[in-house]
Amino acid sequence: DYKPGGYHPAFRGETYNEGRYMVVRKLGWGHFSTVWLAKDTATNAHVAMKIVRSDKVYTEAALDEIKLLRQVSAPVSSTESLYDSSKHILSLLDSFNHNGPNGKHVVMVFEVLGENLLALIKKYEHRGIPVMYVKQIAKQLLLGLDYMHRKCGVIHTDIKPENVLMDVGDVEAIVRMVEVLDKKKRDQKRSQRRATKTSMDLPAAPNSLSRGSASASLERSSSDRRMRRHTIITGSQPLPSPISSTNFFEMKAQMIGNSLPRPTACSSRSNANLSGGDDEQVANSLSSLELTTTADERPEDESQREHDIIQIKIADLGNACWYDEHYTNSIQTREYRSPEVLLGCQWGCSADIWSAACLIFELLTGDFLFEPDEGHSYSKDDDHIAQIIELLGEIPARLLSTGRHARTFFNSRGQLRNISKLKFWPLKDVLMEKYRFAAEDAETISDFLMPMLRLDPQERADAGGMVNHPWLRDTVGLEGVALSERKLYQSGADIPGWSQEVTGHPRH
Ligand code: ATP
Ligand code: MG
Ligand code: MG
Repeated sequence: DYKPGGYHPAFRGETYNEGRYMVVRKLGWGHFSTVWLAKDTATNAHVAMKIVRSDKVYTEAALDEIKLLRQVSAPVSSTESLYDSSKHILSLLDSFNHNGPNGKHVVMVFEVLGENLLALIKKYEHRGIPVMYVKQIAKQLLLGLDYMHRKCGVIHTDIKPENVLMDVGDVEAIVRMVEVLDKKKRDQKRSQRRATKTSMDLPAAPNSLSRGSASASLERSSSDRRMRRHTIITGSQPLPSPISSTNFFEMKAQMIGNSLPRPTACSSRSNANLSGGDDEQVANSLSSLELTTTADERPEDESQREHDIIQIKIADLGNACWYDEHYTNSIQTREYRSPEVLLGCQWGCSADIWSAACLIFELLTGDFLFEPDEGHSYSKDDDHIAQIIELLGEIPARLLSTGRHARTFFNSRGQLRNISKLKFWPLKDVLMEKYRFAAEDAETISDFLMPMLRLDPQERADAGGMVNHPWLRDTVGLEGVALSERKLYQSGADIPGWSQEVTGHPRH
């Protein structure tokens, strides 16, 4: 992939845009790009630089991405609400071209954020994130989507954990610390090399924690979902550990691609063992984060209060489109793909709501809501549609009659062609029986998710209305936030481009 037309081989110290930005280290990568931490010498702050592959298709997609990013970054005057929902979308700071050995690359500059939500899901070992955090993420995600759909006329089309990033707070403090740790690592490597007297160089590509969407299903459980959905895990599941200040701290640092010492290593005890030079700096940067003590060394409420608020932003508008100009009908990552897209029906902003519901379920449980697989006699799409029916009931006739691919999956009597035995298992029961939620919680969560999983996109609840759901009322840090202009459970059918592309407008 590091070849002409591919990724740019960025390296530490390399400068961009006439010397303004200097590369520090890699932050992540995706199918389209590599993303780097860089220092903006004009402001002396750090930024994230997304360097897009140089091939024509990637360049053109990047130019569209920039247009869409500008649209969501432009301040929208609103008399409706005091809450600024635009802050839940990653904002573009700058963009330019960069020439390298593999061609001309579009580069986008963003504020630096932290790890994506998949990393958080993994941190809790796919057992689900504490509900308190899920509510924070869900409410912010819905606020961000409401802004995108209603105020900007933009559809993301690829809402999934990898594309929602966590804010890290004091970036500069973390960067200082990570730079020190990096230098230490480099020094260590150098002395090791000297000791073994081998001059073998390490591969040039720096380490990265994130991964591309192409490998999305590989890294996660590949077990047969048709089996798994109907398998209740017996015995008590270990409870997820709450986010203590120290593992939150790890989380922050890992976003820069560095694994930190285990909790005790940043305790005051171990700081006492550090002396002089780099170590002193490590200690300094640690203390600047007020994390020199471990969670168990200080009062519960204090450590709790400090890291109560997870902040998220929706990122990667690389597949986004306009409510009145769709670029393709092949949208959404498999597990988050809506029924209207599977069936080849008209689609719109409401497709994002479906994905958001799948994502929120995944945060709660650690499992995909739908994880289709192919079998001897059925395709992945067959399985996907079967799973959707098993959870949500029969596909509405309107979708079957308008779906361009409906006939591939259904016969004239409206029955699935390739899968006959369906096992209905409603969401509330899944939450109780498989994931051991208490009946009352399962009821509320199901009541929250089901309107976003309406099979007919015209009837699907809109993001703004769902912000007002009782389940989100006590969201820490967002208790008072509600959108009076949107009604709970109401469909977004009044939003232009909600369930189909608006036609007749000039192209963007
Ligand atoms: P995809 O294959 O999903 O289309 P892409 O090439 O368009 O990927 P992004 O999804 O924008 O790239 O970014 C890839 C990864 O880089 C993200 O998952 C994230 O881990 C990291 N990343 C992106 N933007 C930032 C940022 N502003 N701050 C920190 N990390 C970032
Ligand atoms: Mg991405
Ligand atoms: Mg992308």
